[in-house]
Amino acid sequence: MLRPRADADVVLALTSVRRSYGRGPGTVTALDNVTTSFARGSFTAVMGPSGSGKSTLLHCAAGLDRPDAGEIFLDGQAIHDLDERRLAAVRRRRIGFIFQAYNLLPALTARQNITLPGELNGERIDRRHVDEVIAAVGMTERADHRPAQLSGGQQQRVAIARAMFTRPAVIFADEPTGALDSQSAADVLRLLREAVDRHGRTVIMVTHDPSAAAYADRAVFLRDGKLAGSLANPSVDRITGSTQQIDAVHGGGSNVAR
Ligand code: ADP
Repeated sequence: MLRPRADADVVLALTSVRRSYGRGPGTVTALDNVTTSFARGSFTAVMGPSGSGKSTLLHCAAGLDRPDAGEIFLDGQAIHDLDERRLAAVRRRRIGFIFQAYNLLPALTARQNITLPGELNGERIDRRHVDEVIAAVGMTERADHRPAQLSGGQQQRVAIARAMFTRPAVIFADEPTGALDSQSAADVLRLLREAVDRHGRTVIMVTHDPSAAAYADRAVFLRDGKLAGSLANPSVDRITGSTQQIDAVHGGGSNVAR
């Protein structure tokens, strides 16, 4: 069998990944034998109803949680069986995160928030790279503002710059537009698109919003912890159509163990 690491174009590969919560009759299989891969320099939307396993997939793939079974390779490195210390190092150095609630440190300016992960990694901070990343998200004028002085959309743009700053192998975004008005959401999605197209980053975004997923190169659909389908070059209409088809096949099932 071809090892995921043998394919230089695959930056993240999951093989037969399983993750359950609880024991006995109440066991919930949050991820049930998931196998998929993500190409370097691609933008993928992970979609599915609440409870379908999106967060669990993201957490396992990003080294925030460990699967019960299966393999996960990030940029050729097996991360499914790393101890917590090594996993933390992978998260710091190889992964960028963007959260719905921005998660900026309130006492730091935008610029300081952006450079903090690099500083924690002990990297020398290249001022030109800082300025470039700040300019790329359109925050040059407000780089010395603190989060409380910024709108939600501006805070999320700072969070995107922070996620890009260390040039991670993969940027994970968990409902990044969930708290934003539609104009700010469009700005954020355009920046994620640019991170892929101009800067060669790989973005994996969890969303339930078809109009957000339409910015991606591919949408993958989860149902009851399983991969239920995928769509290349998704549009809102095609996402809606696929969702209806998948619902017709899967019904509104539960992933509680029977
Ligand atoms: P989604 O992100 O699609 O809403 P999740 O990955 O959060 O789905 O959850 C998948 C399933 O796993 C759900 O049934 C959820 O209740 C369950 N689950 C997630 N995290 C935990 C946990 N820490 N303890 C118990 N059950 C959990």
